[in-house]
Amino acid sequence: NSMVTDSKNLRVKLVLLGDSGVGKSCIVLRFVRGQFDPTSKVTVGASFLSQTLALQDSTTVKFEIWDTAGQERYAALAPLYYRGAAVAVVVYDITSPESFVKAKYWVKELQKHASPDIIMALVGNKADLHENRSVSVQDAQDYAEKNGMFFIETSAKTANNINQLFEEIAKRLPRTTP
Ligand code: GDP
Ligand code: MG
Repeated sequence: NSMVTDSKNLRVKLVLLGDSGVGKSCIVLRFVRGQFDPTSKVTVGASFLSQTLALQDSTTVKFEIWDTAGQERYAALAPLYYRGAAVAVVVYDITSPESFVKAKYWVKELQKHASPDIIMALVGNKADLHENRSVSVQDAQDYAEKNGMFFIETSAKTANNINQLFEEIAKRLPRTTP
């Protein structure tokens, strides 16, 4: 699924899933542009952004990141959106139990319709709002473990763990042995 352009350079399709408002677009903009804009209504839209990550072993991973234009608000996203994706990042907001319920729904959808070897990450975003936390680390960790997912809490606002998220994903991509 991840396309190997050569043994040192990978190119992967990554999709973001999760309730509207959990911070998916902000995570992308933080990772790709190093910015956080709390005022603008981010519309990364139907297009995708890409960002290349250089790893310590001198390999590079080019993430082709698909963000929704808000379709997640209205109905189930077309499986077309995540078809062929090597990586799915399922995001919830640590202050919103509803968004955690929705994240589990997306995981089930992916398990039904996505490629069986897709790499899935569970991301609890808005970790800077820990005073209003309503999803515990333990619950999320347990759920992720049960479903073979990698789990991390992030803040697009403070940039906490945003790079780590993508680095951990990169580490989990299958490689051809040189
Ligand atoms: P999306 O609908 O999942 O793409 O969510 P957005 O990226 O548009 O973000 C929704 C709202 O949450 C915006 O008002 C953002 O400013 C805010 N937001 C996103 N990430 C964070 C974060 O890490 N911390 C805080 N405090 N707010 C965030
Ligand atoms: Mg968005």
